[in-house]
Amino acid sequence: MFDKILVANRGEIACRIIQACREMGIATVAVYSEADRESLHTHMADEAICIGAPPNSASYLNAANILSAAVITGADAIHPGYGNLSEDANFAEAVEGCKITFIGPSPEAIARVGNKSEARKTMRDAGVPVVPGSLDGVGNADEAREIANELGYPVMIKAAGGGGGRGIRIIHNDDQMREAVDQAAQEARAAFGNGALYIEKYLEDLRHVEVQILADGHGNVVHLGERDCSVQHRHQKLLEEAPCPVVGTQLRRRMGEAAVRAAQAAGYVNAGTVEFLLDERGRFYFIEMNARIQVEHPVTEMLTGIDIVREQIRVADGQKLRHEQGGIWFNGHAIECRILAADGERGFIPSPGTITRWEIPSGPGVRVDSGVAVGSEVSTHYDPMIAKVICWDQDRASCIERMRAVLRGARIEGIKTTIPYHLKLLGNAYFRRGEVTTQFIQRRLPISQGGGL
Ligand code: ADP
Repeated sequence: MFDKILVANRGEIACRIIQACREMGIATVAVYSEADRESLHTHMADEAICIGAPPNSASYLNAANILSAAVITGADAIHPGYGNLSEDANFAEAVEGCKITFIGPSPEAIARVGNKSEARKTMRDAGVPVVPGSLDGVGNADEAREIANELGYPVMIKAAGGGGGRGIRIIHNDDQMREAVDQAAQEARAAFGNGALYIEKYLEDLRHVEVQILADGHGNVVHLGERDCSVQHRHQKLLEEAPCPVVGTQLRRRMGEAAVRAAQAAGYVNAGTVEFLLDERGRFYFIEMNARIQVEHPVTEMLTGIDIVREQIRVADGQKLRHEQGGIWFNGHAIECRILAADGERGFIPSPGTITRWEIPSGPGVRVDSGVAVGSEVSTHYDPMIAKVICWDQDRASCIERMRAVLRGARIEGIKTTIPYHLKLLGNAYFRRGEVTTQFIQRRLPISQGGGL
């Protein structure tokens, strides 16, 4: 087993990984930007090294500095967390080149699923249903119009290299398409270093349901069930739950098997997520595979009792999975609320500042994954998600009540948070009935209007 792991990330996920290492008796190295000198993750680790100026591009995306930090401290593995360099095949390759283990899939597998257009082809060839759309990239507006007319509007233009809800556009007619293609390609080139685009039929009012998989280097792949992540604002998730309220045993098995096939087709080892859109008739369509730990992994951990980060580390060490599919059980219901440093009562505008009070109630079935504490400085340099509150209970209704009680009891001062919005959401009649699709926020609880009921 590894003696020392460098955690190439910040915030709650860095803390989560450091904690897992502690439990496993593995020493940790934190890396931090000049803005994060006093951050929680910097203090939690056994060693910490400054890797650059505050902007992500100068520090948490600075592969050379991170690799130097790993070599200097003698780390034998790097955990990338999510975001930042986690799905950068070149980084994974450079890590391996330094004789350090990358805790994640191989550079080849990252590249294979990282190009979303290529991934669609891989999945279709493996018999995994994909969203109807173009199978190759679209070169120009004429080609795009032709494909769109065959599919029927509305369609989505997506950047093959996109991610995190960015690089996506909904197009309703030929005129819009004419304008959008060049602009989208330019933007994609600037944002992702890859201007390639592809087109999908826009499947409105479906659920976003994703399946967690675990794969080892010995040919074993299992799935850990699904998560419903339909509650989204501008394609970004705000609340996730497991199980999905409309997925029963049969459908879970079918989606799970498709996800396992997807992982096998991609030659995938480590933890990963296969994302689908699910319609009300139980038909599901692959949208993409994420080659990393997901923000919302805790809801799956609460349901299965499996520590996914620990499994990532074990698998990267060459060990076999400890679980066979038949031994994985799904118990009760779990919900995660992503707490953002943003004004939950006024349009989610960012709310930087110093946290002067940070109290979140605890109790049975309550877990808080946080990257902050009293005194923490929340800066605008980074993602506004500062913590996650996860609740578990035996059924969905009591899980919702537990989450409401926890969030109502939270006392956070110095910054604004999205907790007031989450409380409205948890009280919403449609949400409480489990009637949620990716259009839910826009239709039932629009954020631009302050989330009024
Ligand atoms: P990213 O890689 O940026 O996360 P995805 O391709 O996973 O982008 O899509 C993000 C979200 O956009 C999905 O969760 C879903 O809500 C919506 N979406 C994606 N593809 C479609 C589609 N073809 N039709 C309707 N909604 C879609």
